[in-house]
Amino acid sequence: MFQQGIQRRIKYQAELDGNFAKEIASTPGCDNLFSCIQCGKCSGTCPLSIYMDFTPRRVIAMTRAGFKEDVLRSQTIWLCASCYSCTVECPKEIKITDVMYALKQRAIKDKVYPKRFPTPVLAREFFRSVWKYGRNTESWLIVRMYLKSNPFKMIMQGLLGFNLWRTGRMGLKTESIKDRTGLQRLLEAVERAEQKENRTPMGERE
Ligand code: SF4
Ligand code: SF4
Repeated sequence: MFQQGIQRRIKYQAELDGNFAKEIASTPGCDNLFSCIQCGKCSGTCPLSIYMDFTPRRVIAMTRAGFKEDVLRSQTIWLCASCYSCTVECPKEIKITDVMYALKQRAIKDKVYPKRFPTPVLAREFFRSVWKYGRNTESWLIVRMYLKSNPFKMIMQGLLGFNLWRTGRMGLKTESIKDRTGLQRLLEAVERAEQKENRTPMGERE
């Protein structure tokens, strides 16, 4: 009879990225990365670590060791809810939440994030809405998130959406600010400055 066992994959030194840790540690807020003592307090306090493919402690260890591909492709960084529990508890004052943000930004920059995972889709669509209208319209944000991540789920949530609309809890009118052109000029200037500094652009606009 077939027995399921633990699958181990050997990693070779050549697969590691020697500069990855330095790059992440140079991001504002991530400078303490190398002082981690691997105590595991962050993983113990994280309310979502049981759903993560790598615990926060492991993400820190893998980042330091240069496991760039594994870390950037992991779902952990997208599951992080930015609750800051780990950051508060860390005895070495490592801002683990900021490290998670830095990894997310890097995954977007390298285009290796899970394209249909709801969290990055939601973040991207939120950004696009704010870029275009200066505001976010909840109903359309949800519709776009489901369409781009899991259209089948949108059908299942249809009745709930209809009831929210019927009872006036969710509108369909697109919300917008008056000076959209002014806002876009401002955001474009910020994006140009970020590109000049070779930082991750504010949003992914396909
Ligand atoms: S709590 Fe801080 S020192 Fe401990 S494993 Fe997590 S990051 Fe490292
Ligand atoms: S900030 Fe993220 S990694 Fe840290 S405890 Fe909260 S969910 Fe977990």
